[in-house]
Amino acid sequence: MTNTTPLVQMIREIQSSLVYLKENGCTGFECSPEGLKTLAHLGVSTTDGPAEQESLVAIRADLGTCTRCPLCNTRTHIVFGAGSPDAQLVFVGEGPGFDEDRSGIPFVGAAGKLLSKVIEAMNLSRETVYIGNIVKCRPPNNRNPDPDEIRQCLPFLKRQLAAINPRVVCALGSVAARTLLETDRPISSLRGRFHEVGGISVMPTFHPAYLLRNPKKKRDVWNDVQQIMKLLE
Ligand code: URA
Repeated sequence: MTNTTPLVQMIREIQSSLVYLKENGCTGFECSPEGLKTLAHLGVSTTDGPAEQESLVAIRADLGTCTRCPLCNTRTHIVFGAGSPDAQLVFVGEGPGFDEDRSGIPFVGAAGKLLSKVIEAMNLSRETVYIGNIVKCRPPNNRNPDPDEIRQCLPFLKRQLAAINPRVVCALGSVAARTLLETDRPISSLRGRFHEVGGISVMPTFHPAYLLRNPKKKRDVWNDVQQIMKLLE
């Protein structure tokens, strides 16, 4: 967990705003990848105490206007992730859909509205958790991300998880669960119990889009998130 001063916090907010403006096509001020990296490191001591964990803002700056995989050719916005940098709980989905690609914000479409309801039922809010995805750009026609796209994008999610250092990651659906747990097993055999991955407890559960098609499975998801609530108590 990072220990930020108000100055560092302010620098991060300025940088975050520049990244947002740049992503939305604004020009006329300093928001080059180099400038953003410099801002990310301002105010961070390199001599005193233990090394500070890299910030989400620094990771976002490093991602830049990503062209590491072909999804960059069809995306509207990179969907980096949203929520608290100090979240105890991170939800990880598969990849942005139509609404997320348009807005740059994860889980804002129909499945996202259901995820928001789940989060509220846990007595949490979208502001206190963090929400990300296995890939940050929308796969055309909402197909599953392919292995090479995942291979290019996953290191950034892993760095985000290291920066946030949550107690629990809730993997939403088969792609997120199989990727984070490095397995080919079906989600139905993975969900319902915690899996330890690099010191983080990962709870796989069904994806909210699957719940929209199979409402009877909501009971399973409620059981899974109740286990998360107990662990976070
Ligand atoms: N589905 C996902 O997996 N992620 C999103 O951000 C939206 C829908």
